[in-house]
Amino acid sequence: MAEHEHEHDHEHEDAEHEHPEEQDGDAEREAEQLARKRIALAQIRQFGDPVLRMRAGEVETFDEELARLADRMIALMHDADGVGLAATQVGILRRFFVFSQDGVDRVLVNPVITRRGGGVEIDDEGCLSLGAVRVPVERQLEVTIEAKDANGAEVKLELEGMPARVVQHEVDHLDGVLIIDRTDAESRKEAMAQLRPRLLLASR
Ligand SMILES: [Zn+2]
Repeated sequence: MAEHEHEHDHEHEDAEHEHPEEQDGDAEREAEQLARKRIALAQIRQFGDPVLRMRAGEVETFDEELARLADRMIALMHDADGVGLAATQVGILRRFFVFSQDGVDRVLVNPVITRRGGGVEIDDEGCLSLGAVRVPVERQLEVTIEAKDANGAEVKLELEGMPARVVQHEVDHLDGVLIIDRTDAESRKEAMAQLRPRLLLASR
């Protein structure tokens, strides 16, 4: 799942003149971040890729390869400025995803949402596989999710608000479901208009 776009604050317009070196440092860091984001996004499957529509299978072996994959996905997620990334988004049809919960990176393997509560809320969501598309999606405010970690140990998380939204989004990915399937007809139409030129380019 994609993080909200950050609004930059330009209140201190004269800072440039006071600390020219710091400004250069900032600009360089921003350029590096952008480059890393582009490289990360190039490794994440984009809309139109059939793998995004497939259902992932259970993970049966908790080996080093799984742990390595999960570490790589956590790095990709951060580089891409995201808060969640499912295995299907990197072309791996196995049921696990990574997500960031209040600054803590987690790996959830064979996740199952075992409780939904707290009512529902509609909020805009983006997706690392859908470019700049953001659409309103209704999600449960509270969920309990049970899974294994990368070592096969049991994990049970009771989540509310943003982390609850993120895990619902990522579990959907493991079933081949995208946010455009969960939004209203009008928003879906707008999203498709935004995505169509990319599909035409990709098919050439
Ligand atoms: Zn997504």
